[in-house]
Amino acid sequence: MNLEEIDKEFVLHSYGRGYVNFIKGENATLFSEDGTDYIDFASGVGVCSVGHGNKRLADAICEQAKNLLHVSNLWVIEPQALLAKRVVELSGYDMRLFFANSGAEANEGALKIARKYGQLNFDKKRYKVITLENSFHGRTITTVKATGQEKMHTPNFSPYPDGFKHVESIDDIYLNIDDETVAVMIELVQGEGGVEPFKKDEIQNLAKILKSKGLLLIVDEVQTGVYRSGEFLASNYYEIEPDIITLAKGLGGGLPIGAVMTNLKDIFEPGDHGSTFGGNYLVTRGAGVVLDILEQEYKDRAIAKRVELFNENLERLAASLPELFSSTVGLGLMRGLRANSSEIQAQVIKEAFDNRVILLKAGRNTVRFLPPLTISEDEIVEGFKRLEVALSKVGV
Ligand SMILES: *Cc1c(COP(=O)(O)O)cnc(C)c1O
Repeated sequence: MNLEEIDKEFVLHSYGRGYVNFIKGENATLFSEDGTDYIDFASGVGVCSVGHGNKRLADAICEQAKNLLHVSNLWVIEPQALLAKRVVELSGYDMRLFFANSGAEANEGALKIARKYGQLNFDKKRYKVITLENSFHGRTITTVKATGQEKMHTPNFSPYPDGFKHVESIDDIYLNIDDETVAVMIELVQGEGGVEPFKKDEIQNLAKILKSKGLLLIVDEVQTGVYRSGEFLASNYYEIEPDIITLAKGLGGGLPIGAVMTNLKDIFEPGDHGSTFGGNYLVTRGAGVVLDILEQEYKDRAIAKRVELFNENLERLAASLPELFSSTVGLGLMRGLRANSSEIQAQVIKEAFDNRVILLKAGRNTVRFLPPLTISEDEIVEGFKRLEVALSKVGV
């Protein structure tokens, strides 16, 4: 059996996956088995924030693996405590953290925090969380239900937990707050929903109104967090102070780690929440190095320069192809091209791949770009050069 046959025989078919076998990576360049090089504008869906084959990250992981991988959360874990301190300090918020293994698990933690807050702080229990129709919050039964996209709520997995209300827009949030509402959960830039940023004043107003009512603002920064927006958190860019923030994708640079942080610093007591693997030595040591690298690049304005160069190239490409794209969208190094149809979107991604550029799709016919935050100037320029050639082959 070849690799494709083995995969299809033994792995459940929950992904529509491609069968190129990548065997090596260097920053934003991936190499397949036959030696073909690809410019990676996807970074494993925003995960490989410090690129592929990052030596500092790899060395730290190796060194840690030779000493300790895991002792369980029954003991204090030095790199976990230090990482929590780092994340809180970089965020600028007065918060505490819990480490999970994924975005969905971080969001589950956020929902538990909100529910406990709703149980303890009101005469009549509050437990409903309002989310948006184009949102994406994960794949567990609860986070699938938190996700507003109706197509995700298939009867195949029902019944779903109670307590979610999906609304179309931020204005509709206000109309749907009732005496059981405890929180609003929102992505500041909707990732899967089409790399769609909200307006700053709209978000600031939402934060203000929720605060005045004693309701919680949960910001899902699983995709936008850890410098993806150009700032450490998109919440920093929007200049708001959420009550709960979740992180995952870029935090570990490829290590499976998620986190939920909150200003409700005493919400949990021992026994309220837990995770066997969450925050173990390996992932928190690695994530600490990811933050060391990215904080330095942020301070040196290297990330800002990449954002600028990427933006110039994206704008030029979009402007030169009005028959394919209506606009550019996104923030920082989380960007998109709005295709004029879903057929164009699919063709663009396919032609790009055939010309050795990896892109992603997202909702609203969006072609999505999530390059490593460390992508080099040469890789950006080369990627767009290849794209230009690829897109000349897309027919309308
Ligand atoms: C990817 C993503 C999730 C889910 O993260 P997993 O690690 O796949 O569980 C949740 N929210 C947002 C905004 C995401 O982009």
